Amino acid sequence: SDFSKLGLSEWVLETCKELRMKQPTPVQRHCIPPILSGQDVLGLAQTGSGKTAAFALPILHKLAEDPYGVFALVITPTRELAYQLAEQFRAFGSGLNLRCNVIVGGMNMLEQTRTLLHMPHIVISTPGRLKVLIQDNSDVPHVFSRTKFLVLDEADRVLDVGFEDELRAIFQCLPKNRQTLLFSATMTDNLQTLLELSANKAYFYEA
Ligand code: AMP
Repeated sequence: SDFSKLGLSEWVLETCKELRMKQPTPVQRHCIPPILSGQDVLGLAQTGSGKTAAFALPILHKLAEDPYGVFALVITPTRELAYQLAEQFRAFGSGLNLRCNVIVGGMNMLEQTRTLLHMPHIVISTPGRLKVLIQDNSDVPHVFSRTKFLVLDEADRVLDVGFEDELRAIFQCLPKNRQTLLFSATMTDNLQTLLELSANKAYFYEA
C-alpha cells in the first residue's frame, strides 16, 4: 500500500515523495482517510510513528482547497513540541504559501496578538499563553470563529499539565462543526476527560 491510495491530492503526494516518505506508516494509513472524510479521530500512537504527518497532511490537503485563517489550531503541551510541529507543517506545506505561527509563553504578547489578528492558516500553541491572549483582547476569540480543525497533540500530556481551564476557554472560541483530532501515546483517564471537553466523537485508532 502507498500514499496514493489514501485520497490525498497530487501535490501532497509529490511533497511526500520529495521528503522521501515512500509508504504511509500504520497511523497514517488508518487515520488519513477518516480525517479527509470529515470524521473526528482519536489516534493512539507514539512519537516516531509518523503521527504528525497523519494529521498535518490531510489538514494541508483541505487547506489548499479552501484556504482561510485560522484554518487549524494545534494544541501541544510544550514549547519545544510546538516548534517541532511548526517545522513539520512548514516542510509538508512548502508547496503552499503557508502562514504557520507558533504562539507560546516567553514571547512578546502584543506581537503575538498582532500575529493572530493577521489570521495565520495554522496556529500551533500551548494552552496557557493562548488563553491569556484570548482573554486579553476581545478581537482574538473571533480569529477562531471559522476554524476547521482542532488538533490536540500529545493529548494525555496536555491534561497532565493541568490545562483544563485553559482548554475550556479555548474550545469556547471554536465553532461546533469543526473536526477534532486527538493524538496521544496512551489511553488515560485524562484522555477521557479531554474527549468530553472537546466533544470528540472519534473514529478510534490504536497501534
Ligand atoms: P512523528 O512520529 O510525527 O514525530 O514523525 C517522526 C519522523 O518520521 C518525522 O521526522 C517524519 O518526517 C518522519 N516520517 C513521517 N511519516 C513518514 C513516512 N511515511 N515515511 C518516512 N518517514 C516518515
